[in-house]
Amino acid sequence: MLDLSKYPDLPKEPAAFTCPECGNDIRCEYISLALVSEYPELDDAIDDGSFFEVVCPHCKTVHHYQQGFMYMDKCRRIMIYVCNSETDTKKLMDSIGDNLKAAASQYYIVRIVPDVYSLLEKRNLFRLGMDDRAVEVIKMDIKGNLLTNGKIQNTDTLRIYYEVDKTGRHYLNVTDKAYGIDGCVDVKSEMYYLTELMANRKLNGIRFYDWLEVDEIWAKAKGGIFSNPSE
Ligand SMILES: [Zn+2]
Repeated sequence: MLDLSKYPDLPKEPAAFTCPECGNDIRCEYISLALVSEYPELDDAIDDGSFFEVVCPHCKTVHHYQQGFMYMDKCRRIMIYVCNSETDTKKLMDSIGDNLKAAASQYYIVRIVPDVYSLLEKRNLFRLGMDDRAVEVIKMDIKGNLLTNGKIQNTDTLRIYYEVDKTGRHYLNVTDKAYGIDGCVDVKSEMYYLTELMANRKLNGIRFYDWLEVDEIWAKAKGGIFSNPSE
């Protein structure tokens, strides 16, 4: 669990929830702007989950509690807003949209993601200088294959995260609880670089405000243009 008193200058928000173990109310604070360039240990805390830990003062149970927060790396110029389950994107844009646009205009990579796993995926990709648009197009293809091959009937519980390991191997972590899928799919790195090349050629204005949310919906809307190189 983080000691929030170590971060007096980081903005925090109050939160309250009922302990599922003992039923008592828990009041806490969470960091709403994780400045990892200033506090690199926050990156580790997000990785190992301690960033989200809240201890119930009554029964001492450790809970994993995630609210919407901004991940910001000023050195690498990365801003990723992680939504919580109730985040309304429109309300979010009304409240911080201007900040996001301003950051994008200063050559920040700005993204809104639905969960912490997506944050970690994109953070790791951006650190490697990779293009998440190409990654989303590749993920969409793999989803299509799983559906076509009858491995899954729908994508409701399907989760796919792109990773590159230390040896430079590209792969996808694919899990689907409903269909008992839990494994890795190798991606030829050439496939990534080809898709990236296409993305750069066909979609100028990479990583700007137009593409705040680069996800499956984005890939569906834009992916089609990748299939016809002659256009
Ligand atoms: Zn409790």
